[in-house]
Amino acid sequence: MRKPETIERLYLDFDGFFASVHQQITPKLRGKPIGVIPFETNAASSTVVIACSREAKAAGCKNVMRVRDALDRCPELILVTQRPDWYRRAHNALINEIECEIPIETIKSIDELACILGKADIADPHDLASRLKLRIAKNIGPYITCSIGFAANRLLAKIACKVDKPNGVTIWRPDDMPGPLFKRPMSDIPGIGSKISFRLMVAGITTIEDLYATQPKHLRALWGNVNGERMWYAIHGYEIFAQPTSRGMFGHGRVLPPGHRDIERAKEYSRLLLSKAARRMRRDAFFAKSLWLWLNMRSGVWYKQLELPSVQDEPACLAALNKLWSLAKKELAGRPVEIIRVGVTLSELGEPGVRQLDMFLADDDQRQQAEVLTNTVDRLNAKFGKRVVTFGHWSPPPGGYAGGKISFNRIPSAEDFW
Ligand SMILES: [Mg+2]
Repeated sequence: MRKPETIERLYLDFDGFFASVHQQITPKLRGKPIGVIPFETNAASSTVVIACSREAKAAGCKNVMRVRDALDRCPELILVTQRPDWYRRAHNALINEIECEIPIETIKSIDELACILGKADIADPHDLASRLKLRIAKNIGPYITCSIGFAANRLLAKIACKVDKPNGVTIWRPDDMPGPLFKRPMSDIPGIGSKISFRLMVAGITTIEDLYATQPKHLRALWGNVNGERMWYAIHGYEIFAQPTSRGMFGHGRVLPPGHRDIERAKEYSRLLLSKAARRMRRDAFFAKSLWLWLNMRSGVWYKQLELPSVQDEPACLAALNKLWSLAKKELAGRPVEIIRVGVTLSELGEPGVRQLDMFLADDDQRQQAEVLTNTVDRLNAKFGKRVVTFGHWSPPPGGYAGGKISFNRIPSAEDFW
């Protein structure tokens, strides 16, 4: 494996992205503590702040904090409703600006991306960072800032990127390593979830220095797969290529506004969420063999999975969802039901473009008809915009955006806002 002798990668992360987009677009919010909430509601105290501005963070607010706790810490906090359409537009505009300076290797999320450095950038990373920041400030606006990390590989660049937030630049040259890495908390290393971090703790590995000193084979055993070994090579500054990730699932979830948390309305919203997830799945040419329905209630979580005969068409997905709801109604009968969040997931996807035929199910003619119908509807909607044709009526919950909900892991595309 190759160990680069110079910096080769850049990682860029926008600072408090959602909140800064609001401040850029709405001048009266600039310099003020703001908290982004998922939907407009009179009972704001029962929801959570999903993102907050740096002014709110300075006052002790955190992302994903109950509104009432955030208001306790910062009584002057201004609550604004999320605008996924703004975030998407800002994302696209920012990507365009960055690509004018350096090609983007990969877009990691709506507010993070990575690049491979060219010769001139390796020689003068500060100049590249200044050009990027200047261009964004001039062409998009000075209220959207980013932090940039440079290192031998993407993982180190990502960790470096967090060192000097907001609006920082951190350069970790291979010659200076691993000193600066050892100063970081273990939680700065991406890809260590609660399960792994517990195993590491049990093994006496509690700092990045411990992790660095552990043998790669030992890390592989602790992880239970090759990712442990990859982690060792990554923190030692080797060139590590991201493994091609196969698509695991298509899903959508939504927190329901207070007053909309009964079974009938949750069922209605789940239909819209599934319709959107299925459309994304078709766009990427996948077929699903499994559908999940998730209900988060005050009294606990209810979920169930249903096998599907490798489908992608709307009627088949909606029929399966109906079955799941019948089961839910039966099992939840007699219990107090207040559904806070509803989610649907299409999973067990096969190879894109290939429908695995079920030998025991002679549904092919019918299935193909449904697929033709669904594809026609998709094409009509793509051509004329919005939902000119839908399967059943379309009534999104207050706050709208049934499927264009914000997510750090998925950049919504324009179609998701229909
Ligand atoms: Mg960010």
